[in-house]
Order: sequence, then C-alpha cells, then structure tokens
Amino acid sequence: MTFRDTLNQDLIVKNKVTNEQIDNLEVIYDKMTTLFKQADIKNIKPELAKSLANELKLLEFELQENWNFPKDEKYHTWWNRFKGCTCPKMDNDERFGMDKIINSTCPFHGFEINVTIV
Ligand SMILES: [Zn+2]
Repeated sequence: MTFRDTLNQDLIVKNKVTNEQIDNLEVIYDKMTTLFKQADIKNIKPELAKSLANELKLLEFELQENWNFPKDEKYHTWWNRFKGCTCPKMDNDERFGMDKIINSTCPFHGFEINVTIV
C-alpha cells in the first residue's frame, strides 16, 4: 500500500490533487505525526505547547494548499487533537467551519501565557 492509497481517493479526483501535491502531503503528514509525538508530554510547558500549536497551524495551511482547498483556519481539523488540549472537542467538531471554542486554561490554545504574573 502506498501513501497515496491511504488518502481519500474521491477527494484527490474532485480537487484535482497532483502527484507533486501528494508527495508534499506525505511530508506534511509525517511532520504532523512527529509534532503530535513531541507534544505528548505530561504537564507540557505552555510556551512549548503554544509553539507546537503554532507549527501545527502552519502545517494545516500547507495541507489545505496541497489539497487545493482555500486556506481557511475555520476549516482546520487537527488543531484540537493534541492529547493535552482541554478545548471542548465535540462542541468544536460540531462547529466545523465556525469560530473555535477555546478553553482559556488550555496549554496549547489558552491565553494565560500572555498574562504577566507579578
Ligand atoms: Zn486547546
């Protein structure tokens, strides 16, 4: 089984995904696998978590580009699959294509990192 076989064949045809783009997708999915492994740390530091979340976001844009979808963050599907992400999973899956619901204490997506504690 080749990497190509693992992809949604109908979508490849429908979106006119080229062989070159399929090669790109393989690289991107590999990077994502590595990234999720890097993020799989108990009590991950928010600084690291947020930098990995940001890297993932860029990879998701690359995915959209190579699947010939418009680059639109609202249609990202991987952002809340980090093991330590505490954002509501089901609510967000239901809201696909809409704004995200973020848990403010999520190490990956919360905002407390911007708060200076004195
Ligand atoms: Zn989160």
